[in-house]
Amino acid sequence: MAGLTIGKLCFGADAFAYGLELCLARAARSAYRVTTATAGAVDVLLVTIFWYADYYRLEAFYRQSGIRPGGKPIIIIGGMQATMTPKLAACFADYVFVGDADEHLGGILDQIESGKRPEHPNLYRAGAGDLPSPCECEPSAFAIGTGSCHSSVRIEIARGCRFKCAFCCLSGLKPYKEVRASEIEPLLQAHHGRALSLFAPERTMHSEFDRIVLAAKRYGCKDMGQDARLDRLEHVSGSSVTFGLEGLSQRLRKTIGKPWSNAEVVERLGRFVETRKNISRVSMYLIADLPGEMDDDWTEFRELFLEIERADWSRRLVLCPILNPLSPKPYTALEKAHIRLFSDYASRWRRLLRKEGGQWGFRIIETFVWGPLERTMDAIVHRAPAEAAAWLIRRMPTPLLLRKPRMDAREGVARALIAEIGKQEVTLNMLEGTAP
Ligand code: SF4
Repeated sequence: MAGLTIGKLCFGADAFAYGLELCLARAARSAYRVTTATAGAVDVLLVTIFWYADYYRLEAFYRQSGIRPGGKPIIIIGGMQATMTPKLAACFADYVFVGDADEHLGGILDQIESGKRPEHPNLYRAGAGDLPSPCECEPSAFAIGTGSCHSSVRIEIARGCRFKCAFCCLSGLKPYKEVRASEIEPLLQAHHGRALSLFAPERTMHSEFDRIVLAAKRYGCKDMGQDARLDRLEHVSGSSVTFGLEGLSQRLRKTIGKPWSNAEVVERLGRFVETRKNISRVSMYLIADLPGEMDDDWTEFRELFLEIERADWSRRLVLCPILNPLSPKPYTALEKAHIRLFSDYASRWRRLLRKEGGQWGFRIIETFVWGPLERTMDAIVHRAPAEAAAWLIRRMPTPLLLRKPRMDAREGVARALIAEIGKQEVTLNMLEGTAP
């Protein structure tokens, strides 16, 4: 296949395409971003599946473009979600690359170009023997432009995580590895004056983080990164920060590896707010439906809000609490956790954020919670046998693959999906992890 024409497909934000762009750069290949009108014209299509919703969007893309695995182009899927659920990815691809392909995509494309069937220990095909374990590559210095007109630059500084939080696949999927500061500095120099996102699962734990931040300043780059663990907030320079508190109570936080008490949360948040020049904006991520969650955990979380309200510094705080019900992932200690897909967390969350009809004494941003439909579609990807999940996705109406229905219809649609996949002997108990 001389002069291979390569297409690329990634759903959602530019940032999700970082891994694919890195692999293409290391392979010294360029690829066209395809649309439904152009996908059929390339020889090879590289697809990133980043999270569960991408499977549904990919099926819609196949319908609208007329392409399918087994025809033209050759479809190769990679990405974090594909690595976690390679059997399902294989139902939507000719080949799935499991793990990091940084140094390997080039060889695979060379084989296709020379007319051979691609072979690689981490390349998986439906029904082709044992699943490979994820490929691990050393991260290396690389930058992509993101945002409108590529105004920002995104640079990976580490892979994996030194911590091992029980729900988080980022530390389970790959070992912790860093890009050396001496490799990152030339990138900062090349992109001087640009907004910057230095990313890693827990970026402030990079052993040379201070050196990298200093270099960014030296080259006039504004570091827009704002993620940090609660015990690392002082490493964030701006007035905005995002951290994962995860458990509603200290008891639940202890079970997942973030054992902070309410008093510690208030103390560290207060220190962050009081050391900022401007009003602080704090995004705080929480997980509902952790194993063993009880009403007492919600009461303790409400007490945290009361303690924040009593603190003087909270007049200078805008708090954005975000509640995500647990999505048990492969490669984590909670993979087999029991979940309750139809728990009404949305109402409970709304009541709390609105102080049961009152108003909190600090500014709070109201956020929405995944409901039964999102949770069911996610559980189908992670917990149904791959063939059954793919069977269902291929039967779903296109509008449902692309958009959520009206809020008041979603629970009914979730139940209809479960009834439908029941024809493949997948039960609600299986999806909730309560089947014997
Ligand atoms: S939740 Fe954060 S700190 Fe914990 S393992 Fe994941 S990336 Fe690391």
